[in-house]
Amino acid sequence: TRTPVTVTVTGAAGQIGYALLFRIASGHLLGADVPVRLRLLEIPQAVKAAEGTAMELDDCAFPLLSGIDIFDDATKAFDGVNVALLVGARPRTKGMERGDLLEANGGIFKPQGEAINAGAADDVKVLVVGNPANTNALIAQSHAPDVPAERFTAMTRLDHNRALAQLAKKVRGTGARVSVADIKKMTIWGNHSATQYPDIFHAEIAGKNAAETVNDQNWLENDFIPTVAKRGAAIIEARGASSAASAASAALNHVHTWVNGTADGDWTSMAVVSDGSYGVPEGLISSFPVTTKDGRWEIVQGLDIDDFSRARIDASVNELSEERDAVRKLGLI
Ligand code: NDP
Repeated sequence: TRTPVTVTVTGAAGQIGYALLFRIASGHLLGADVPVRLRLLEIPQAVKAAEGTAMELDDCAFPLLSGIDIFDDATKAFDGVNVALLVGARPRTKGMERGDLLEANGGIFKPQGEAINAGAADDVKVLVVGNPANTNALIAQSHAPDVPAERFTAMTRLDHNRALAQLAKKVRGTGARVSVADIKKMTIWGNHSATQYPDIFHAEIAGKNAAETVNDQNWLENDFIPTVAKRGAAIIEARGASSAASAASAALNHVHTWVNGTADGDWTSMAVVSDGSYGVPEGLISSFPVTTKDGRWEIVQGLDIDDFSRARIDASVNELSEERDAVRKLGLI
């Protein structure tokens, strides 16, 4: 039997955590033949709720789940971690300024970065889900100098999946029989925020260029882009609670693709540390089209970026630069 992979989940008692843990334990994170050991991190007030979730995990009798430990101390929770899912974060509350939000999250992601630096396994992979995810990932990464920077990523896979769903729906509206599985090379650029840019100019539907197939600039600008970017708010409005199952599902997709690789002729979207590709300042954690293989990602190179796309990528990347400047000013990186 294989050695279990140690997976640490923060914010484990939250609603994304509840949607995530059972699927990790049933093999959807790494594969149906990979045993996992769960380490749950929560703030002290939420440890009891995490214990309740752990009781339910026990009661599922998942054959792949080889153990669960619960902590309120980051150093212990990240000891030996192979896959770290940083879900817990300080949400923006009414009247909170951006600086307050960044500062509150700095207080969470700085010690977590330090704990990962101190105790993580050599192959550690980190996915930040808690918002503002890109900048939280940057904070954690900057406090883990011994871990290669490329191991810190933030999630834009939910945006990517939302874009696939919207595009498939649009094409089906023309009478074509298209499923999300027929769509390749979707890209989310920039920040996981309302400024993100979902790009269909390189996407393919059943092998044909997606933007040409759709051929509807008005839909692209006034429907597709805002629908994808504001989907989170629309779900809160409809459901009375934020998207949790879809966020958890995207987190599983992100790690599964990172570990197991993208298919030939396709890529995915991940927020990763920029090497300056496509004019994104080096060091920012920004979403790009990436391929993955053998547990490593690479930014897809050589795509033509027209003026329409350029302006949108720049706007989102500028927001990331501003967030970086703000956390620098606060002494968080
Ligand atoms: P959720 O589980 O719903 O969300 C957790 C985080 O994920 C939030 O920051 C949220 O950001 C973010 N997120 C990213 N993408 C999405 C998406 N598509 N939809 C919804 N959320 C998204 O929050 P809960 O409040 O239910 O649970 C948070 C838990 O984290 C609590 O149990 C709390 O105790 C814990 N916590 C743990 C910490 C730790 O382990 N050290 C630190 C801080 C909190 P957004 O702001 O946009 O909602």
